Amino acid sequence: MSDYNDQIAEHRLATTTKSGGRAYVHPQDVNGRWTDIRKRMYWLLVIFYLVFPWIHVDGRQLVLLNLPAREFYFFGSTFYGQDGPILIYILLGFVFFFSFVTSLWGRVWCGYACPQTVFIDIIYRQIEKLVEGSARKRDTLEASGWTWTKIWKRSLKWFLYLMVSLHIVHSGLGYFVGTRELLEISMHSPTENMTLFLTMVVMTGIILFDFGWFREQFCIIACPYGRFQSIVMDENSLIVAYDKRRGEPRKRTIGINKEDEGDCVNCNRCVHVCPTGIDIRDGLQMECIACTMCIDACDDIMRKVKKPEGLIKYTTELEQDGEPKKISPRVYIYVTLFLVCVVGLFSHLNLRKDLKTQFLRGSKSPFQLIEKGNSEKLIVNHYKLKLRYFGDQKLNLELKVRESNELGEMAIIIPELPIEIENENLEVNVFFQFPMKYLTNGQRILHIDFIDKISKKVIKQAEVNLVGPIR
Ligand code: SF4
Ligand code: SF4
Repeated sequence: MSDYNDQIAEHRLATTTKSGGRAYVHPQDVNGRWTDIRKRMYWLLVIFYLVFPWIHVDGRQLVLLNLPAREFYFFGSTFYGQDGPILIYILLGFVFFFSFVTSLWGRVWCGYACPQTVFIDIIYRQIEKLVEGSARKRDTLEASGWTWTKIWKRSLKWFLYLMVSLHIVHSGLGYFVGTRELLEISMHSPTENMTLFLTMVVMTGIILFDFGWFREQFCIIACPYGRFQSIVMDENSLIVAYDKRRGEPRKRTIGINKEDEGDCVNCNRCVHVCPTGIDIRDGLQMECIACTMCIDACDDIMRKVKKPEGLIKYTTELEQDGEPKKISPRVYIYVTLFLVCVVGLFSHLNLRKDLKTQFLRGSKSPFQLIEKGNSEKLIVNHYKLKLRYFGDQKLNLELKVRESNELGEMAIIIPELPIEIENENLEVNVFFQFPMKYLTNGQRILHIDFIDKISKKVIKQAEVNLVGPIR
């Protein structure tokens, strides 16, 4: 039975105890080339996420995703629900871009850009370190009973976690509600915006649970992207790996002469810095998020023992087997599909620059009759004109009928003229007032020119069907 338990323990996650409970990993600090790069990247992303929604230019939030109104504002451009194809190009573009990046550079997203890694490493773990001390002290505190020191340290840590989580959630909601509106709402009683308040409470709870407690467990057992990565990676993808041929047999291996020992001094530093608690020397493992901490840790040891760096390094499975590096055909396929999405996106964005027009019946009754003093009758057709324009220049539009007035005066009545439109969807009431002769003579279709008063150019033509009491 004990043998069986030992075998199980060998294959147990480093983050679980023998009884299946939670084992906390407190990775030791590490410095080095890759850590420097990662930290710079992390700060950039944290600033992007937490500061961006609070920046306003010309009175508008830089990025605002107003889902109920189906209006999305990005750096000065507004997109609407009708821009669905753009969203499809963006989403597919992301899928193919991530597939390309992962098939070439492995789990680079996990190590350098995933919010799970970024927020835990740069904020939550730093708070933990500030309150509870080094990894060794944190381990001791973890193992100790509930003394006063442990109680106040844990309380302070979780209070700071709560403060940070609240800011993260408010910034996140700010992308959807608008940060100014959110500030305004937060001045009032929660009962006035119960749905938003409950959303904030639930989201804060999730963030606290995930970044404060669940942590690397999410990467190991819950992250869907982690599973997706195993599909797109192959033996040519970049991985963080230990050079077994150079490192083994490790120092102090029983039965091995000193002169036969490999470069690994068996210091376990690579294990102690690993945030998922694994030993990279056991080979490629699903728990490895390619954070490179073990590379920096081992390079530091190699420098100290005067051996070449790179015992743990970025490599590929094929390279480990002594074969040359190459790029898999799937990488070219992903790049091509990504470029197709980029071209599709830009051509669709370009199409948005054209003026789009649509005449829709404006009232329930299709026409009204107006009696004139001389017994002549005029017919009025009411239309709602929907306009959509996202070009570079503002337009001042007026509408002209191309047909001659030989059948009588055709009047186009628009409450506000000219129609000013710039980067927006607009709806305008348009009334066509015309003599009965138009219908009696079969002149039922009108051709309308949309003329920009600034450039004096006809920029769009449309047709309108006239209706009246004559079939
Ligand atoms: S840090 Fe390097 S030398 Fe130390 S145990 Fe890990 S692989 Fe071996
Ligand atoms: S094995 Fe190395 S690269 Fe992988 S998660 Fe652990 S420290 Fe990071």
